Amino acid sequence: MAGQIKVECPHCKKESLHKTVGSINIDRTPEMRAKVQDLSCFRWTCPNCGVTSLVMEPCLYHDLANSFMVWLSEEKPQSADFDPLAGYTLRWTQDFNSFREKINILERGLDDRAVEMMKYLLFAQLNLDLDVVELLFHDLDEKSASFRFVAVLSDGVEQYVSMPSDTYQKLYQDVNERLYTSGRDFIKIDLEWAREAFSLLHSVEQ
Ligand SMILES: [Zn+2]
Repeated sequence: MAGQIKVECPHCKKESLHKTVGSINIDRTPEMRAKVQDLSCFRWTCPNCGVTSLVMEPCLYHDLANSFMVWLSEEKPQSADFDPLAGYTLRWTQDFNSFREKINILERGLDDRAVEMMKYLLFAQLNLDLDVVELLFHDLDEKSASFRFVAVLSDGVEQYVSMPSDTYQKLYQDVNERLYTSGRDFIKIDLEWAREAFSLLHSVEQ
């Protein structure tokens, strides 16, 4: 799937070739993990003027050991028709931050649906007195057993916020016992999904 595409430099407007990543098999090329997390594998330097930019191109990330695949693609990926019994988690993301965040969540063996629901709750809570434009899972704090997120504010400032793992456990239980998510196709699990999931869970309660 790797190949070359023509890229127009956003600065000098000159077109040149860029070698695309295509697909990543992390078990075979473990060194790609860091390059995805810092996005350097999507970085391109214009040979004409030297300006560096990120090139958005479809990329499929496959982690065999942790049984998941994540698409980075602006367009919805083709139907996979995977065997749901294979127990794979198949996800679709549309931007760089969601892509690397999704990998960061799934390779820890966490349920990204429960994490998105945590983010949804946190987002509502933070926006009572802050202007949060983006909220991303960061890591697990082993000492306090809490989930750390990074909130990006409208003025560009980044702020770390934590949520106890009890919240995760509770949501994980809800999601697994009461919501069905297909393992057959690449699906988008984001804040919008979390909003719908909450309203679905509430409607069942009433
Ligand atoms: Zn240029």
